[in-house]
Amino acid sequence: MGSIILFGPPGAGKGTQAQRILEHTGQPQVSTGDMLRAALAAGTEVGEEAKRYMDAGALVPDDVILRLIVDRLKEDDAAAGVMFDGFPRTTPQARALDAITEIRAVVSIEVPDDDIVERITGRFTCRGCGTVYHDVHLPLPEGSCPCGAFEELRRADDNEATVRARLATYHQQTQPVATHYEAQGLLHRINGVGHVDAITADILAVLRNV
Ligand SMILES: [Zn+2]
Repeated sequence: MGSIILFGPPGAGKGTQAQRILEHTGQPQVSTGDMLRAALAAGTEVGEEAKRYMDAGALVPDDVILRLIVDRLKEDDAAAGVMFDGFPRTTPQARALDAITEIRAVVSIEVPDDDIVERITGRFTCRGCGTVYHDVHLPLPEGSCPCGAFEELRRADDNEATVRARLATYHQQTQPVATHYEAQGLLHRINGVGHVDAITADILAVLRNV
């Protein structure tokens, strides 16, 4: 078996696809955010160490994250591998991960920057009920939210300049990770533009053949 890495820019739909894929593979989804929260809640030694960095407003260093992953991989549900979502983000992280688990496939969900910008900057939420809408893809039905308490909420960091800056960081740091796995013959590129069901089908087709 071995673990799977789901890879792609912010806004590519990794979270949505991860949920759908794990229903088929049974491999648990592992993100660093979830692992940190679980370790903090459980009060483990590595969780306490991570907390000291977070309390100081610092990034949790790679070696601490790697120890979280080592612990996570020892859990019963991870025996056949896991699905990493949002990790590794850098080549040093990828090399460290290679040393602790076998990677079976890396699925890169590819979406052009302009599409990502449109997806993210068009998003807004109804403050009344929490429903997420989109200017183009999921407009308000008949101009308002059926909950009757519509109030538009847009995240301040969902503006074009911020999204383009995040994408620039992604390309600079994370694209070398794609190159790292491509050299090992593990990288599979998926077109992330189109219907969510079609994208899931493409990913599952890749995973059936590795
Ligand atoms: Zn509403």
